[in-house]
Amino acid sequence: MMKTFDEIFENAENIITGIAAAPGLVIAKAYKFIKEELEVNGQKITNIKQALTDLDEAITRSKKELNKILNLARDIMGDKRAIIFEAQMMILDDPILLGTIKRRIEYEKMLPEFIVNDEISKYQKLMFQAHEAYMSERAHDIEDIKNRIIRNLQNKRWKSKIIQDVIVVSKTLTPADTILFSKSNTKGFVIDHGGLTSHAAIISRSLNIPAVVGTHNSTLLINDGDELVVDGFHGCILVNPTKRQCNFFNIKIKHLKKLQKSLEELKDKKAETTDGKIIELLANVDVTGEIDIAKTSGAQGIGLYRSEQIFAEMGDLASEEEQTKIYSKLASRMYPQMVTIRALDIGGDKFNFSGISEPNPFLGLRGIRLLLANESLFKSQIRAVLRASKNKNVQFMLPMISSLEEVRKSKRLIDECKKELKKAKEKFDNNIKIGIMVEVPSTALLAKEFADEVDFLSIGTNDLIQYLVAVDRGNDLVSDLYREFHPAVLKTLKIIIDGAKISNKNVSLCGEMAADTLAIPLLIGLGLETLSISPSTITYVKKIIRSISYLKSKKLADECLTFTTSQEITSRIEKFFVDNSIKRTRNII
Ligand code: PEP
Ligand code: MG
Repeated sequence: MMKTFDEIFENAENIITGIAAAPGLVIAKAYKFIKEELEVNGQKITNIKQALTDLDEAITRSKKELNKILNLARDIMGDKRAIIFEAQMMILDDPILLGTIKRRIEYEKMLPEFIVNDEISKYQKLMFQAHEAYMSERAHDIEDIKNRIIRNLQNKRWKSKIIQDVIVVSKTLTPADTILFSKSNTKGFVIDHGGLTSHAAIISRSLNIPAVVGTHNSTLLINDGDELVVDGFHGCILVNPTKRQCNFFNIKIKHLKKLQKSLEELKDKKAETTDGKIIELLANVDVTGEIDIAKTSGAQGIGLYRSEQIFAEMGDLASEEEQTKIYSKLASRMYPQMVTIRALDIGGDKFNFSGISEPNPFLGLRGIRLLLANESLFKSQIRAVLRASKNKNVQFMLPMISSLEEVRKSKRLIDECKKELKKAKEKFDNNIKIGIMVEVPSTALLAKEFADEVDFLSIGTNDLIQYLVAVDRGNDLVSDLYREFHPAVLKTLKIIIDGAKISNKNVSLCGEMAADTLAIPLLIGLGLETLSISPSTITYVKKIIRSISYLKSKKLADECLTFTTSQEITSRIEKFFVDNSIKRTRNII
């Protein structure tokens, strides 16, 4: 009998845990990447002219290096992701910053690296003070460009080319390091700092390199050349694994390869139950790179485009023109399939552009609330979405709706924007469908009334569960209370689905619950006919759908609705899988 994941890790002393940043499994040797600390001293200089020439040369060399990285990044990640490096390039071209540095060298007569360090550090301090994950990640990016100039002033070189297959272990990794390593023989990343939004995490996800970040002290616990297992599905690393652990993972890797091959064959097949019910599978898209994965995985459209990602990646508010370009490109790449663009869901734990700090951000100025309080921001997005809708394959979705007034106000603004565009003779889809996310309990309870007001509902279980059971979705301390199979969650899903159906409107589910293979029979049995999930999970879910019967799933859902504890529901679903000999594909991993 194959051991379970928990059995193999129970009491293991060689395990390091972190955040599962990019999925995949790999076994290889550790390559510890330690950047030489650059020392800068405030030494006085006499030859100012030479110092200014040195600075110019260092800037030119830095630009050359960065240009190479920028081109590489564009090749492997597409233009939008490469924006990080364009932003760094802009710093190298910033006349105000360079002017200040040069003036200070002349007046203070200090080594240029000292002034560069001091001046750029000032920017970073401001960013770190923002106390926000996104801003501090960007402050790290600036660290990269600062160190690049200093290193070039000191005529030093960094090594980021590797000959053997290795797992790079590092305290932090700049976007440039991540790109350069990924072009060499890097099979995995283990990084002490950073979270899911760190560039190392984002880039490794785009490039399909397994990564675990936020490990705190892996650089202390791992030696160069140690054998490592990196499990990017569960966020853990085994250092010098035992024979038993190695066997366990080698079997898993084999299973994974086989599974990936068998899933590829499903790509062009329908997601159809054994008794003929067809389920529509759409993709959730967070980053541009995922559009390609969505297309190759057989998604039938985009059910959730998280537009806030554009702003998060740019680190700024995108203009109407910039947004129009991005949405139009997205719509034409997916045409004739539908693309559901969600209005900016900022605030909460997401990208906070306003800098306002709130005591309870999840209950604060988030999503539609923030948009209605910033009409010009909202209207510029509405106009951009409308302009991208001219081929009639775009729909617009409102996040964090908790009252009908919010829907009505939003619809009024959409009408205003339509009038403005008509006046400007811009083309758009006058019948563009408007939908809402159902992720707040008040909206769930009034699902029918909301459905009467809009064209479609999409259930966001990630938030719905947190608001329903009062458990912060990102808080480790209470994560065991965040239960998707809570009886109240099931009852609420039923109210929403039935409400939409009475109103004759489409209802889909776009939260992570739809990617949990255990939840699939339940969701289908509750009556959902459309699921939107992350593209990499589409084929896994399709495989389950193709092995279940709708009628049996309906019976299962009806029975689960009578239970009063999550435990009973989970056990019943597990029994359903065993009774019907269905393999939970994702659990093989
Ligand atoms: C959700 O809440 O389920 C959802 C899909 O939205 P997000 O995860 O972006 O909050
Ligand atoms: Mg949500």
